[in-house]
Amino acid sequence: MTQEQVHKTMSAIRGKDTKPEMLVRRFLWHRGFRFLVNVRSLPGKPDVVLRGKYRICLFVNGCFWHGHKGCYSKPKTNVAFWERKVERNQERDGEVRERLRNMGWHCVTVWECELKPTARKDNLEKLERTIRMIAEGGKMVRGYDLGDELVNGEAAENGAEYQ
Ligand SMILES: [Zn+2]
Repeated sequence: MTQEQVHKTMSAIRGKDTKPEMLVRRFLWHRGFRFLVNVRSLPGKPDVVLRGKYRICLFVNGCFWHGHKGCYSKPKTNVAFWERKVERNQERDGEVRERLRNMGWHCVTVWECELKPTARKDNLEKLERTIRMIAEGGKMVRGYDLGDELVNGEAAENGAEYQ
């Protein structure tokens, strides 16, 4: 990533209504879900919160900033600085999920790359399935990635989420 790309990524992520987040919000709204956004009263200020039978906190994560494994490319300059920053963010993300889980909230992570035009439709459908599955399930509270395989309507365990 060039410095310019880094700046672009960062300012996009810092902005309140970043585009990926808006895509998710618009999709869910059109599918009939009602939710809160940027909820300050919950750990990590979740991007989207579905209450009631859902109890889901949704995070739309930038791949660089949150260090999407096997996805983001390392910056070419100030490598150590950025690596430290990203690592710290990953740690914080883990802590936030743990705290939310202890409060009885499911966490669902949507990665920016999953919302690229070619993959968007499939992944948003996957998101809706995941949300409905959680609502129907009364399953153990845990984290979900859209990449989780749905097996008989249940997501396979994703041990990495809370490590
Ligand atoms: Zn990614």
